[in-house]
Parts: sequence; C-alpha cells; structure tokens
Amino acid sequence: MITVGILALQGAVREHAKALEASGAKVKIVKCMEDLQEIDGLVMPGGESTTMRRLIDKYEMFQPLQNFAESGKPVFGTCAGMILMAKEISGQDHGHLEVMDMKVHRNGFGRQRESFEVALTVQGLEEESYIGVFIRAPYIESVGNGVEVIASFQDKIVAARQGLFLACAFHPELTDDHRMHAYFVKMIEESNEQLHKIS
Ligand code: GLN
Repeated sequence: MITVGILALQGAVREHAKALEASGAKVKIVKCMEDLQEIDGLVMPGGESTTMRRLIDKYEMFQPLQNFAESGKPVFGTCAGMILMAKEISGQDHGHLEVMDMKVHRNGFGRQRESFEVALTVQGLEEESYIGVFIRAPYIESVGNGVEVIASFQDKIVAARQGLFLACAFHPELTDDHRMHAYFVKMIEESNEQLHKIS
C-alpha cells in the first residue's frame, strides 16, 4: 500500500486524509522534513499561500519540499498548494517552490465570487462531471509545453498535470467525490511501478 503525505502546516488536513484513505492509500501527516522520507507522494492543501510559505520557511521545509518534488516524487497541490508549486505568480517577482511550469493568478475569480461550486469536465474523470468547490481560488494563466490542461472554467485553466505533478484551483477534499484523490493515488502507484521496473 502506498503512503501519501499531507503537508500539515495550515489548511484542511482531515478531509484530505479521508479522501486519500477512501482511495486506498495510507496517510502520513507531514510536519517536518523527516516525515518526507516516509511517503510516496505529497498533497499540499489549500489555505493562504503567503502564510503557508512563511510556515514552510519557519519549519525549514523549503529546500526539503523542493528536493522532494525535484526527485520525481508525485505532488498534488490544491488551491494555495497549487500556488506554492507554480514557477510564476502573476504580479509577483518570484514564485515559491517553483517546480511546476505554469503561471498562476491569485484570487483570480474576483471578490464578488469569493466562493462557488461548479460542475467541471475533468480529463481522465469524464464519466461524470466533477463538482469543483472554489474558495478565493486562483486560476492558471498559462502553462509550459509539458503541461497538460485537464480542466477549465470560463476559459480559465483550473486543473493541470505535468508528469508527476497535479494541480487544481479548487478544493477536491470538500466533496464526497474522491475521484481527484483517486487519480493522484493512481499516479503514485504508476510511478512506483515504473521505478520497480527500472531497479
Ligand atoms: N487565495 C488564497 C491564496 O492566494 C488561496 C485560497 C485557497 O487556498 N482556498 O493563497
């Protein structure tokens, strides 16, 4: 059974844990760099990206998280977690971890639409639409060559995949539909199989 870590510096942890367990994974709460050694993939939840960044620095997790992502381990960033992964943030000089080739726009849906739910078509989960829960959500303004857009809403990209990186602007942990988490668990299983084939 694979173990998925959830970065637990801020944001919804319990809901992600429930969704991952329902998808057949073991869950490890990640609070320090040592915890990263025990996991096959990592979820970075929503919250407030600037606060999360501050806590990442405070707990000396910046370099370990970047190394984890760059070592080819799967990472799933949701909402603020997606902002942390992006190479570029619109209007800012630098990103945070800068591991996924995309430019994100924070709070991209405007104040009048602080939170909303919408039925999305997500590539890979097409059998039924997926309800995206958006809370002060960012969107993806542009993506690099190796990035696959997997969901859009009103011409804005709201979910994407680049190899072993998965990102979405919405909160997949806030619905009982666990297909996004199951998709990520499958990504990890497939990457583990590849690793075993090589070694
Ligand atoms: N607006 C938040 C940010 O910029 C993200 C919101 C969320 O994660 N729900 O970090």
